[in-house]
Amino acid sequence: MSNLYVHYPFCKQACHYCNFHFSTSSKGRPAFFSLLRKELELRKEEIQYPLESLYFGGGSPSLIPPKEIGSFITYVVRHFDVYDSLEITLEVNPDDVNENYLKELKSIGINRLSIGIQSFFEEELKMMHRAHDVDQAHKALATAIKHFDNFSLDLIYGMPYSTLERWEENLKTALTYQPPHLSAYALTVEKKTVLEHLIKENKVSLIEEEAVKDQYDFLINEMEALGYVNYEFSNFGKAGFFSVNNLNYWNGKPYIGLGPSAHSYDGHSKRSWNVSNNHRYASGVREGKLAYQSEQLNLKERYNEYLMTGLRKSEGVSLMHVKKVFGEPFTSYLEEQVGRQLDQRNLYWDGDQLKVSKESKFLTDGIAADLFLV
Ligand code: SF4
Repeated sequence: MSNLYVHYPFCKQACHYCNFHFSTSSKGRPAFFSLLRKELELRKEEIQYPLESLYFGGGSPSLIPPKEIGSFITYVVRHFDVYDSLEITLEVNPDDVNENYLKELKSIGINRLSIGIQSFFEEELKMMHRAHDVDQAHKALATAIKHFDNFSLDLIYGMPYSTLERWEENLKTALTYQPPHLSAYALTVEKKTVLEHLIKENKVSLIEEEAVKDQYDFLINEMEALGYVNYEFSNFGKAGFFSVNNLNYWNGKPYIGLGPSAHSYDGHSKRSWNVSNNHRYASGVREGKLAYQSEQLNLKERYNEYLMTGLRKSEGVSLMHVKKVFGEPFTSYLEEQVGRQLDQRNLYWDGDQLKVSKESKFLTDGIAADLFLV
């Protein structure tokens, strides 16, 4: 089985924190889907069937007219082997949502939305240069719950100047819509973003790491109390609503990423990524010579990745899996390395599974890195 991911590289405006690949020019938008089909045609041998998830991300795929998305879905379903339960997700921005739009999405087969709310505070949305306002966020959610059982809501915590009280209000407001799935990401300062520039110029200041941790701890406690499973560090779902797309990704399943900058993985050791340039991507596809780079992961890199993704999941890392896939030297190394983290109660064994304790979850990436083989 595998996932098919589509990266739609266009946005209305640039959010200040974002380092994804996108363009705010509309040049290239009309031809996008014909390029996508051609890329899919060129790469069909790479797909490992059946497809379990089709995901439209970006960028801002909610700028695409539903008819275009619909004909691409029809093309995929007609030409490729897909599960009956194929999860088809579209990332949407609140400013693109209205009643008719969502009805159309549903009629073309989209069965899951991922809604980029980020905050219910006007000043935070403005500071991050989001294209929507708070009113649009509420309207989008009120409309989404009428038409979709399966949707996810995205929030950002650790915003500049944010307080625990404000984060609590953000989260509680989001939960009034009873989303079956919620993703909450800590704000990160990426290189070459406006946010990085504003911080360097002392025009924006971040909050202390300890305050970000308090916000994360509040999040995991609140979500757990309401019956959500924190199935991955940043992701919470009610039973039956975990993202198939994301879980396959974290479980090391193969995925094909179409579109500029999209990443792919063969489920074993080869990773590749398309060029992050719309023009070069388009010329490559037209000439039948895709512009991409690739790397071959060695056993050590795959082991380190398994630890990182495994510890971020509620399932944890399996010692049996390490033994089976990576062999004895890796197993002994893990058993040896893990002692200090067990003593500090950052990790614990649950049968064969090594898991991060609730109190230390915020430190997960550092704990995993401590176990890496370097
Ligand atoms: S809408 Fe999404 S992809 Fe586009 S700039 Fe904002 S965060 Fe980045």
